[in-house]
Amino acid sequence: MRKIIVAGNWKMNLNFEEAKSLFMALNQADLSQNRLEKVLIFPPYPYLKPLLDMKDNEVIQVGAQNISSQEKGAFTGEVSANMLSSIGIKYTLVGHSERRALSGDTHELLKEKVNRALESGLIPVFCCGETLDQRENGSFKQVIENQLQESLFHLSNDDVSKVIIAYEPVWAIGTGKTASTAQAEEMHEFIRGVFSSIYGAELGEKLHILYGGSCNAANSSELFSSENVDGGLIGGASLKIDEFTEIISNLNG
Ligand code: PEP
Repeated sequence: MRKIIVAGNWKMNLNFEEAKSLFMALNQADLSQNRLEKVLIFPPYPYLKPLLDMKDNEVIQVGAQNISSQEKGAFTGEVSANMLSSIGIKYTLVGHSERRALSGDTHELLKEKVNRALESGLIPVFCCGETLDQRENGSFKQVIENQLQESLFHLSNDDVSKVIIAYEPVWAIGTGKTASTAQAEEMHEFIRGVFSSIYGAELGEKLHILYGGSCNAANSSELFSSENVDGGLIGGASLKIDEFTEIISNLNG
């Protein structure tokens, strides 16, 4: 039985004081739910090390929102997987739809980012998801399979078994329009099936697939009780301590 992972993507929000007090409150919250495997927090880069140093709750892990596709060198403004690993970071988002849409993260670039992450010992939380057009024209399963194929399916069994997937329909991100539990379950089952057909049923069964897209305290219980939904990647609601901890405490109910 897979346990639940609850992840918070803070995006480009919060000043340092706000970030510290949100993190401190989370650190002190009761996160001892049986179904909870871990809580992953993805703050902006400058806060990574200070928050990591503040952390005294084993359940919480801190991760980066992005990494460079390059190993090192003359890439001004970029941050490498190795640098993050050297300060104790263990997770990174790869392929968030905002980066695909706004920062030129192509399939090929994301493949390299996944490679850099794994080489440096970081666990990639690989985001995939279709746009509203793709949902409405019925190509959404093909779109997701293609995103996985182009950036992940070159990996060995050993490497791919470290990856966490976040299915995030673009039309649901930051819109208040959540996928229904049936829509999420259909896609998560599909994604697990694609992995199983390529890497075997055992690996498919173990794969964590998180749902992202306007997930909040009111809808998380139903979503996370669905067989193939193994937690959530949460944007807006991860910035509100009461709501975020309620998502976690709802796991008991
Ligand atoms: C996200 O940014 O990954 C996300 C799911 O955002 P929101 O929860 O705000 O829709």
